[in-house]
Amino acid sequence: MADARPAAATPTTTRCARCQTALSEGDRVTAQDRVFCRSCYEVLKREVRRSVASISEDINYPMALLGAVLGGALGVLAWWGFTVLTKIGFGLVAVAIGFLVGQGAARFAGGKRSVGLQVLAVVVGALSFLVAAYLVNMTFINEVLAQKGQAWRVPFPPASPGMFYQVLAVNFGVMKLVFLAIVVYEAWIIPRPPKLTTAA
Ligand SMILES: [Zn+2]
Repeated sequence: MADARPAAATPTTTRCARCQTALSEGDRVTAQDRVFCRSCYEVLKREVRRSVASISEDINYPMALLGAVLGGALGVLAWWGFTVLTKIGFGLVAVAIGFLVGQGAARFAGGKRSVGLQVLAVVVGALSFLVAAYLVNMTFINEVLAQKGQAWRVPFPPASPGMFYQVLAVNFGVMKLVFLAIVVYEAWIIPRPPKLTTAA
């Protein structure tokens, strides 16, 4: 080939990893283990920013809500079943509620993450936990009512917000608050959008 590369293209010449321009001392940016010219580096930076931003765009909130509610329902059943069977309020199951709600919201939204999803997951997670706590108390109260030969039972769903509160208030102590905090924390961190750390 007559127009092959000139002799200047010696192996010692550093070239941009994207456009293959030979790089001078003043025009080079090292990103991780690769070297780019300044204009390519700016283009790449913009592309990364855009792809990170797209994670939080066009979120299908109805689907996210459905996923969060399904995850919450699964967690509630796990907590209720476990507590009724063992008679122990086991904190790790609270982690399961927060985890399932957070995963449900993010996955049903197509792997998206945003502050909106975080708020949605926290609200659904906290409500799920309160419903789970209600179901546990309802079960134990109804057992006592049955032993005493009473015909009345605590219903689900509760007949009124007041009844919901009353049944929860029977034993809402520090441990419940800790479990609730765990649920909220899990639901908050799972759909959290990634943060770009722009070095240089
Ligand atoms: Zn370049």
